[in-house]
Amino acid sequence: MGQKLTRREFGKLFAAGAAGSALGAFGGVTPLFAQQKRVVVIGGGFGGASAAKYIRKLDPSIAVTLVEPASTFYTCPFSNWVMGGLKEMKDIAQTFDVLKNKFQVEVIHDTATEIDAAKNTVKLKGGKTLNYDRLIVSPGIDFNYDAIEGYSEEVANSQMPHAYKAGPQTELITRQLSELKAGENVLICPPDNPFRCPPGPYERASLVANYLKKNKPGSKVIILDAKEKFSKQGLFTKGWEKLYGDVIEWRAASMGGKVLSVDSAAMTVETEFGPEKGGVINVIPPQQAGKIAFNAGLVDASGWCPINPITFESTIHPGIHVIGDACIAGKMPKSGFAASSQGKVTAAGVIRLMQGKVPAPPSLVNTCYSLVGPGYGISVAAVYKLTSDGIVGIEGAGGLTPMDADDDQLTEEATYARGWYNNITQDIWG
Ligand SMILES: Cc1cc2nc3c(=O)[nH]c(=O)nc-3n(C[C@H](O)[C@H](O)[C@H](O)COP(=O)(O)OP(=O)(O)OC[C@H]3O[C@@H](n4cnc5c(N)ncnc54)[C@H](O)[C@@H]3O)c2cc1C
Repeated sequence: MGQKLTRREFGKLFAAGAAGSALGAFGGVTPLFAQQKRVVVIGGGFGGASAAKYIRKLDPSIAVTLVEPASTFYTCPFSNWVMGGLKEMKDIAQTFDVLKNKFQVEVIHDTATEIDAAKNTVKLKGGKTLNYDRLIVSPGIDFNYDAIEGYSEEVANSQMPHAYKAGPQTELITRQLSELKAGENVLICPPDNPFRCPPGPYERASLVANYLKKNKPGSKVIILDAKEKFSKQGLFTKGWEKLYGDVIEWRAASMGGKVLSVDSAAMTVETEFGPEKGGVINVIPPQQAGKIAFNAGLVDASGWCPINPITFESTIHPGIHVIGDACIAGKMPKSGFAASSQGKVTAAGVIRLMQGKVPAPPSLVNTCYSLVGPGYGISVAAVYKLTSDGIVGIEGAGGLTPMDADDDQLTEEATYARGWYNNITQDIWG
């Protein structure tokens, strides 16, 4: 399973080690630092911040520069809880202070606009150019707005939020829900696979239903799905029947679920079975790797980035690693936990490559908790290994909350979900 270093990688390591000549393009740095190897990380979310921190933890001799436009990163995990009135925006806000001050990660709040894979440089919107020995790209997702007629970024920002990147979108939908007239319906329109956080729309439906039941009598959540089935479906359905009765209605694609177009003025969506009106309409469009991955030619025809599953190094551009939602990681879902796990594996792999060693085959994990109600949690967990078929789940490792879990177990799962959030955010940004 081991991966041999390419001649180019060896050449660069020797050059850097011998005289720092390969790093000579570090304009304005002292001769001492000119010898230092440098990793640039694009994106300070779950994948990128994990990689940046763990490189510095595992090998403080490597300089790490993290490029992230936001000075406060709002996590998508628990953003559904904000919409449901169970958390506030401040509870999902993470900063980069610890990465900067404790781990000496150089954090630049800017946007990467161009990557030159031949020159090993990254251009920033603010005008700077950064040099790297290795680059890690974790830009998350972007939306294919054109896939749904009538939908656009402007419509998402004004009337029909996707709320699939946390921040202003979370605030917009939360405000819309509080202004909803009792009796009006909330439409949630999830996309087809693959997309970020497969259980996300269904946790959202649960917590919005919980809010409606208490605050908007007569209102319902209607899920208009582009799919025939969804993540943790049996567990969600059981929870919905128990907690919400007919407050949640799910329509599969073949049952009129697939959204063909939207009319933001009329606040309707058009399906194969006709129009549906909503007081709040949450359209989650199809997704693809973040824009910078397209700019840099890191994507294939699928719109996602192919990688070597040992090191997450791009199979298109050597020297550039792509992690998180943007990459094609076999059977791993697009989740924050998966992105963080990939960030750590990539940190270890990048260090070994920089030391001229062969990276070890990775062991990867994922756990996803979803809240069906404030005291009702469910989860799915998996451990992954590398086989000739790529990254696959290890049979018997992990699993789902049992269908016959009793009330105490479901309450415990909700408690674990809170613990999960505290642990992962502390591990990454704390
Ligand atoms: C509603 C919802 C609930 C979720 N719940 C969970 C959950 O409970 N558990 C879980 O594990 N996952 C959950 N997820 C999924 C999780 O949020 C993502 O899988 C995770 O954020 C992916 O990490 P990432 O590093 O790929 O991208 P992100 O975390 O989105 O980070 C990408 C970062 O890159 C930055 N960036 C983008 N382009 C550039 C550029 N050109 N230059 C510089 N920076 C750039 C962005 O500003 C962003 O900060 C949820 C998602 C949603 C939408």
